[in-house]
Amino acid sequence: MTSIEQLSELVELSRLDENIIAQHREPLLKALTEWTPEFTSWLHTKTSCSENSPELLMDGYFESFVCARYNQTFYAIQYQQALHWLAQGIAPSQAIGSLSQIRQFFIHLAESWQQMDLARSLCRVVDLSQSIQATVAHLEHTLEKLRQSAQQDINRIRRSCSVLGNTDQDDIVKAYIAHYRWKVRAYSLALGEPLQQEEVPISPHECELGRWLDKGGIRRFPEDVQEGLLAAHERLHHLMAIILDKAKTQQPQDISHYLMDLEAASEEMATILGNCIEQEVYQLAVEDNLTRLGNRRMFDRELARRISHSQRHNSGFGLLFMDLDNFKTINDRYGHSIGDLVLKSVAQVLQAMMRGGDTVFRWGGEEFGALIHADNIEEVGQLAERLRAKVAETPIQTDLEPIGVTLSIGATLYSPSEERSDGMFRRADSHLNNAKAQGRNRVIVG
Ligand code: GH3
Ligand code: MG
Ligand code: MG
Repeated sequence: MTSIEQLSELVELSRLDENIIAQHREPLLKALTEWTPEFTSWLHTKTSCSENSPELLMDGYFESFVCARYNQTFYAIQYQQALHWLAQGIAPSQAIGSLSQIRQFFIHLAESWQQMDLARSLCRVVDLSQSIQATVAHLEHTLEKLRQSAQQDINRIRRSCSVLGNTDQDDIVKAYIAHYRWKVRAYSLALGEPLQQEEVPISPHECELGRWLDKGGIRRFPEDVQEGLLAAHERLHHLMAIILDKAKTQQPQDISHYLMDLEAASEEMATILGNCIEQEVYQLAVEDNLTRLGNRRMFDRELARRISHSQRHNSGFGLLFMDLDNFKTINDRYGHSIGDLVLKSVAQVLQAMMRGGDTVFRWGGEEFGALIHADNIEEVGQLAERLRAKVAETPIQTDLEPIGVTLSIGATLYSPSEERSDGMFRRADSHLNNAKAQGRNRVIVG
């Protein structure tokens, strides 16, 4: 926000103006005092305030126009008056209208004294007052918009997170919401709202977000944003501490200077937190919950990407359909949760065998799919055979006993001359069926 010096420069109010006003200070004060009742009754008729509402003009307000030193004190008085009008339900446009009345009064007065220089100087003071009034109006407008957008953002993030539905997620949503509230809080303190018993904790380790980050929440963020998040969070607390101090010492007019920095810090945090939530929602949409492999949706996306890459570069890629053999008997014999453990472990074994450019997915149930980098069918066959052998020779360790599992694999190569993926799917599927029919634990490729 702009300082009083910047505002004065903007309205071209100079030392000279101050000197001119200083020379006429006494008669100006007298005229203003005489005019006060007329002005206040005009104000009452123009605004919806009743005659017996509290004084519409604060002590020292009129006097400040002719104080001849337009510094911090002038700024504070004008700002407080703007807040006072706001509290009385006088709209900013009405307040600015009342300043036009004051301007008219000064012009007539100075003209009747045949002091045109004085008229010009007083008009600049009214301009200055109007720009302070406009600052308050702008803050109020921003606060209103912030309240609305904060609520919308919070609702949006709540909706996204409701699909995630774990308690850890609640913490991050609470953190997100808390930080939004601080921004709104800072604006309302700048607009003179009284302090509450429970304000934002000064230490960045005592707020909800700080406690969650310290508890290990920070590890939920990618490493390259962790430092930025902690720094923005600390900055936010530091600025909030200053703002609370200004509110305590009844200097709301000084709070506005810190709002821009506060918003920047808050924005930075919101972006990082929001990205993290979005990433987790995205992850949920494309990841299989049990094995943490990509799910069918992810497979479809990756397949489309590979096909278009393949056609652009005139190169092939390999597709593997893998199905655990007699998996039903494992479930029947050891129970469903051991069955789950076997699925997870096989997923890990397969994942560990993937080379750069290969991706394995959980296709559904006890079936896995892999899209692999390969130039010819031999390469596809070799990787498929290595996967089959590795799974077969890796018994799954369980609390009961090690369980041996095997895989049947149908494998094929996508050639860029193929228009669609249907043929490739048919081949892999029929190879898998044949592998099962021929006794399981084997690869058929072609
Ligand atoms: P085949 O060798 O012919 O493939 O025999 P199979 O028993 O593996 O095949 P079938 O299709 O008869 O049975 C698959 C079993 O996989 C049935 C189903 O209960 C089990 N299954 C599918 N998804 C899961 C899961 O997420 N967890 C557990 N524990 N079992 C699952
Ligand atoms: Mg199956
Ligand atoms: Mg099976």
